[in-house]
Amino acid sequence: MPFEIFQADARTILSPVSGFLKEAGFTHSLTPSRNCTFGCTYCYVPTMRVQAGLKPEDWQHWGQRTTFKRNAAGLLAKELRGTERIYCSPLTDPYQPAEDQQKLMREILRAVADAERPPEVFVVQTRGPLILRDLELLQAAGERTRLRVSFSVTTDDDRIRRIFEPICAPIETRWATIRALREGGVAVTATLAPLLPCDANALLARVLEDTDGPVVADPLHVRAVKRSGATTRQPALEICRKFGFEQWLDPNFQNQTLRGMSAQAAAAGRVFGWGPAGFGLLTGTREQTEAGGVYT
Ligand code: SF4
Repeated sequence: MPFEIFQADARTILSPVSGFLKEAGFTHSLTPSRNCTFGCTYCYVPTMRVQAGLKPEDWQHWGQRTTFKRNAAGLLAKELRGTERIYCSPLTDPYQPAEDQQKLMREILRAVADAERPPEVFVVQTRGPLILRDLELLQAAGERTRLRVSFSVTTDDDRIRRIFEPICAPIETRWATIRALREGGVAVTATLAPLLPCDANALLARVLEDTDGPVVADPLHVRAVKRSGATTRQPALEICRKFGFEQWLDPNFQNQTLRGMSAQAAAAGRVFGWGPAGFGLLTGTREQTEAGGVYT
């Protein structure tokens, strides 16, 4: 799908977090661009509109344009204090398709690697195999901070992937990316979020086989349990209705599924968490045995 790329200067680049990310133990978020050219049908961000710093042209044309904060790396070098636990990024994928041309993450990772006062934690949340372009920079930054890549794997069925997130990489390409990151010595978690229709047991079995450390998941956010704030975008709700996937929006079914996965992980000696407690596992600061979150 074609997209437009714009540039802008930001006033600041590290934003203090609240809500979900604060509960998870992060202190700041870093969002390198406005709007994400993966354009997933369920993406929560455009539902936040101005709260996410978006302009109407962003939420009206989600995925078709993006505006990079071209001075992000310079700002980051000035703003780091050495105590931050940074999540990059809650509002866009740092390795979205447009990043291939922009190469902003190279500058950002270099700023982390060269920082006088590197952050305590730096989590890169992505689903983009493009991240392998920056393997050496991830390794260098990982020498200076507790760096972890949280790599999204949303289903075990590539037909489902094509329906909900057609621009994103095939599932097998994502597993290959996770493998390459691990072989490169980068800490990586397969993050099952949002959990799309799948064979949950088969998906988790793959996670247990192909990764180590804690397992993180999160169901599709729905208004039934989250009255305000970011939620699943309309196109994904329509897909669920059209293809008969409504149970994946049902909080009881979501809980049951997550609990089953948690038991399966526990039987393999692995920690499994969801919600803020689950994402807290990415910081490496939570007591791992405390992981888990429920909606009821
Ligand atoms: S990759 Fe993430 S931020 Fe980008 S459109 Fe998909 S869900 Fe939204």
